Amino acid sequence: MNFEHINALKKLLSTPRKIAIIPHKNPDGDAIGSTLGLWHYLVNEGQTATIVSPNDFPKFLKWMPGADKILNFERHNKEAKRTIEEADIIFTLDFNHLGRVGQMADSLEQANAIFVMVDHHQEPSDYAMIMYSDVTMSSTCEMVYNLISLLDGLDHITPEIANCIYTGIMTDTGSFKFKSTTSHTHRVIADLMDKGAENTEIHHKIYDTNSPSKLHLLGCALKNMVILEEYSTAYITLSQEELDLYHYEKGDTEGFVNYGLTLDGIRFAVIFIENKEEGIIKISFRSVGDFSVNEFARKFFEGGGHNNAAGGKSDKNMEETTSYFKSLLPQYKIALKQ
Ligand code: 5GP
Ligand code: MN
Repeated sequence: MNFEHINALKKLLSTPRKIAIIPHKNPDGDAIGSTLGLWHYLVNEGQTATIVSPNDFPKFLKWMPGADKILNFERHNKEAKRTIEEADIIFTLDFNHLGRVGQMADSLEQANAIFVMVDHHQEPSDYAMIMYSDVTMSSTCEMVYNLISLLDGLDHITPEIANCIYTGIMTDTGSFKFKSTTSHTHRVIADLMDKGAENTEIHHKIYDTNSPSKLHLLGCALKNMVILEEYSTAYITLSQEELDLYHYEKGDTEGFVNYGLTLDGIRFAVIFIENKEEGIIKISFRSVGDFSVNEFARKFFEGGGHNNAAGGKSDKNMEETTSYFKSLLPQYKIALKQ
């Protein structure tokens, strides 16, 4: 974050403001962890702040301190809209173009507030006056820690803030194993533990909350996996029928896509999940090495993300979507073999 932007932010926050903090649609651990971490910090500093989420978030994140205070734009629409309208400052966290907030985009476009972006995804758009965009960062949570440091607030990190930020770094780095995990990430984690982050409990609360039906859904997903050795690719499909059969709840398919990459020789893993209500197939892409799933998702599936983790969608049905996907692979045969 450059000096100009940090000084502008310091000046803005030197008097009490009305602040809205926004994660992306279908928020994950990093989106909820970063918004809650920043929310606790700003409220403790005397600001009036509210988190407005575009929609609901998974059960395994509901234990997080302050999670019950998050406004859901779908459920608390009037209050959410008013919060955005009245805000002096709007922080957008863990996304970098307004298409990522779904139905909420109109409200944000009409807002009079000063926008502050904190995000680690590629190719940010330019809606924010104050930008902290860094694609080398492991997570938006690591950036919230850095932001608090730039605001000279490290001594004000409470155990609640530490728990929130720790959670997002842990989930976005696959428990500190992805390439984006640096020695700085580990230093941040060490400091968060010194400041009260309960690492073992957090791990347990996020990862050890499976229900039998979720494990059965995983079994179904693994059974459905198709391996295309020629392209070092593995993909999974889950139809709405299968999701219903195993009583799917938001968040239940988190991490399923990664199983493809645990196969020896597989470098590109994909999961296609039908969402009948929205009339789309939601897609997650993962890769190892140089094959950029960000570019792939952007080019063919109206999506984006990072080099090795991205998402997108398709308006076609499942069969047409997977056929289309397979038709794209031959042009990447060499890239996928490297
Ligand atoms: P996931 O597959 O876990 O939903 O997302 C992987 C990464 O891609 C995350 O960083 C997420 O923010 C991003 N992502 C997921 N879906 C979309 C999408 O539809 N559009 C864009 N631009 N990014 C996405
Ligand atoms: Mn993130």
